[in-house]
Amino acid sequence: MAKEDKEIKCSFCGRNKQDTDVLIAGITGHICNHCVIQAQTIVRDEVSSRANSSIFSALHLLKPYDIKKHLDEYVIGQDEAKKVLSVAVYNHYKRLIQSTVKTSLKDEIEIDKSNVIMVGETGTGKTLLARTIAKVLNVPFCIADATVLTEAGYVGEDVESILSRLLQAADFDVSAAERGIVFIDELDKIARKSDNPSITRDVSGEGVQQGLLKLLEGSIVSVPPQGGRKHPEQKMIQVNTKNILFICGGAFDGITRNIGNRLNTQAIGYAVDKETASIDRDNLLQYVSPQDLKSFGLIPELIGRLPVLTYLSPLDAPTLLRILSEPKNALVKQYTHLFEMDGVKLKFEKGVLDFIVEKAMEFKLGARGLRSICEAIMMDMMFDTPSDSTTKELSISLRYAKDKLKKSTLNKLKVA
Ligand code: ADP
Repeated sequence: MAKEDKEIKCSFCGRNKQDTDVLIAGITGHICNHCVIQAQTIVRDEVSSRANSSIFSALHLLKPYDIKKHLDEYVIGQDEAKKVLSVAVYNHYKRLIQSTVKTSLKDEIEIDKSNVIMVGETGTGKTLLARTIAKVLNVPFCIADATVLTEAGYVGEDVESILSRLLQAADFDVSAAERGIVFIDELDKIARKSDNPSITRDVSGEGVQQGLLKLLEGSIVSVPPQGGRKHPEQKMIQVNTKNILFICGGAFDGITRNIGNRLNTQAIGYAVDKETASIDRDNLLQYVSPQDLKSFGLIPELIGRLPVLTYLSPLDAPTLLRILSEPKNALVKQYTHLFEMDGVKLKFEKGVLDFIVEKAMEFKLGARGLRSICEAIMMDMMFDTPSDSTTKELSISLRYAKDKLKKSTLNKLKVA
């Protein structure tokens, strides 16, 4: 038997059985533990370089102009944010493939990460923009809510749980997750609670901001695969965040006051020049600067790791009207399709869409209000029509819409 063992070799490197820790037998050959590890590395490198080359070819096809054109199909208005985001994403993925691109400066220049922060009222399209970008690029995407995060060791979620979601979105393919996009919503909710940091520990504010730093700048993070708290028995997955693009969003309620104050202060001491006189006071968000984020309560280190700052404008009535019917998956198109599936042709009569917009403006929920209002109006029809095979056409009149909304609980939402 001992003699036989000596004759068994690894079919790849030729090591004798006694020189290996494990020798796995196949149908016609053997492979040793050393060769398994080497093969694993080769496979990982190959998969990763293929993924890079697919991003590379995507970038060849999608210049910032093209990325914006894709965004235009789903997101109405917000041209400035779309432009900024398209460039940031384009540069981010250029950074990823820079090792495969030959330029004369290749070795000396390291392109910095271009994490993005978007400031804009709720329901103006921040999440939609981030989600659409990920769809265009076909990379894993997840949304994390900053409000549930707390400093490690306190009740709540660790910042690492954000990456658990990304891993889940990537079907636990670590290298795909490492090229994904994370949208962190409600970043304004982790602003420093007071100017005096020492009174009580600010575990859901500044503590979380500190925790996010290492994620945003790029480091290797131990991620609990199922999210939640780290349990000693849970096997951690190492994720490198160097190439993950972080897009943060927040309403930053009240930041326009900071912006206004800054703009007013800047004007003092100078003759009120044309620039100051032409400030658009109705949309101060367009002048947002890192300084305003700092006075709102974000720590400078975090602001530094979110170098691309952009804003979303509040949605006016004409924009809301376009949102109802223009985007690829506009609400009107969705409802029409839903009824079509039951063999019913749906029509909105004149004035109904204007009425929905008027109410959405009243509720001050941005475009998010549109959906709830439509649901309230359509609910009875959606309940009755599927069981009524005689109906082939439905027309929603202004009177019907007003009546349904009046009876719905939504009407009690009215904001003073
Ligand atoms: P935010 O993240 O800014 O609070 P969302 O992106 O979640 O807002 O928007 C909520 C919903 O409103 C989206 O699902 C989308 O249907 C609609 N919406 C908001 N803004 C726009 C926009 N600019 N264009 C098209 N749809 C929009």
